[in-house]
Formats: sequence, C-alpha cells, structure tokens
Amino acid sequence: MIRAMTTVATGAAIAHFGPAVTGIPGISARLPPAGQRSGSGIGLTFDDGPHPQGTAAVLDVLAEYRVTATFFLIAEQLRRFPDIGRRIVDDGHEVAVHGWNHAVLCRQGPVSTRRRLSQAVELISDICQVTPRWFRPPYGVATGSALLAARSLDLQPIWWNRWARDWSTAATPESIIHRSTNGLRDGEVVLLHDSDSYGTPGSWRTTAAALPGILDICGRSGLTVGSLRMLNPG
Ligand SMILES: [Zn+2]
Repeated sequence: MIRAMTTVATGAAIAHFGPAVTGIPGISARLPPAGQRSGSGIGLTFDDGPHPQGTAAVLDVLAEYRVTATFFLIAEQLRRFPDIGRRIVDDGHEVAVHGWNHAVLCRQGPVSTRRRLSQAVELISDICQVTPRWFRPPYGVATGSALLAARSLDLQPIWWNRWARDWSTAATPESIIHRSTNGLRDGEVVLLHDSDSYGTPGSWRTTAAALPGILDICGRSGLTVGSLRMLNPG
C-alpha cells in the first residue's frame, strides 16, 4: 500500500511560492520499500489535465507501450474536455483528483476548500464513471483543511518523489528523461504533466516526446511502470 503522507503540509508552513513551484522540500510520497507492499514498480502520474492535445499525445504513447498511468485531473479542465477524461478511463488508466482549479489551497478557507474538493470528486465521478481514490493538491501544497476534506471524501493524499520539471521553459526531452530515470528505483512515484494549462505553453509536446525514452529505460532496467491503482490494488 502507498503510505499516504498526511501530516507533512499545513498552510501555515507555506507562505511564498511562485507559479512555477510545484512542490516544496519535504513534501513527497514514496511507496514503501519492496517487500512491504503488495505491489511494486514505478508509479507513473500526470497532472493538470485533461488537455485535448497533451492528454491525447500521452495516451497514444502509453497505448503503444501498453503502460497504464494515473492522471490527476483539474475539474475545471474536465468540464471543458469531458471526452478526453472519458478516454483516459476507456484506455484503462486511473483518474484522480488534483483540484477543482489550480489555485493554491492555502489561500482558500476551509469551507471553500471542502466544497471545491467535493465538487471535483463529484464531477470526476459523473463524467468518468469511476470513484477517484487519490488526491494530489495543486503545487503539492496541502492545508490541514484540505487533508481533512480529503479524508472525509475517502481520498488518499499522494505526492511524488521524482519530478521532471517538464512544465518549465528550459525542459527538453533529454532533461525530462534524465530527471525521470536517473537513479530511478523501484517504488518511486514520477510526476509529469500532460497539460500546459498551468505551465509553459506547449510543454506537453516535450513531455510526450520524452515519454518513450522514459519507458524504454524503465523497461531495460526491469522496472514495471503503472498506475498507482495497478501498483496498489488493495
Ligand atoms: Zn498541477
């Protein structure tokens, strides 16, 4: 089972961060070491979609490699592109909750936080016809209110322990491949983005271009890549 880290982030601990910041030191999630869980492998996750071109491009690569992933959806994007959300599920992947929008949670009050998270779950459930299991807050920044709301909605918080900075202007397929796979070990959760809605315009093209290289290296290394659900079926 993934050990959801529910005590690492509070709004009070987070004061200043820019739009390019998608995490802070100390906030991460790691699958327990091999032997202590029912599944093993690399958790492949994508944030910020659905996106009509970006998600489709990523799905095409995943289909080619027969690899599943977990897509953390932004509800306001899913409302715009419901067919893309449905395709994610139809293609055999997992959908999860990134948020109603991409606003930083520590600027929202507890009532608004609970309402928006609940609405996001509802929309994802309605459109994708599945009940999401995981919650990853925008920018990786959670608040106590968000964690309580997530618990009440049966959502498990999950962060990541490897990010490829694929949203940045400087990212190249090579840099994304390197950051995603250098020293990669069984049990890690990799964060990529299938959307440029909150990042550098067109960044999904770089991510999609890097994805075959990432999956090739994982394959050569004997690492199983899959969705969080596939690696943690419990
Ligand atoms: Zn995001």
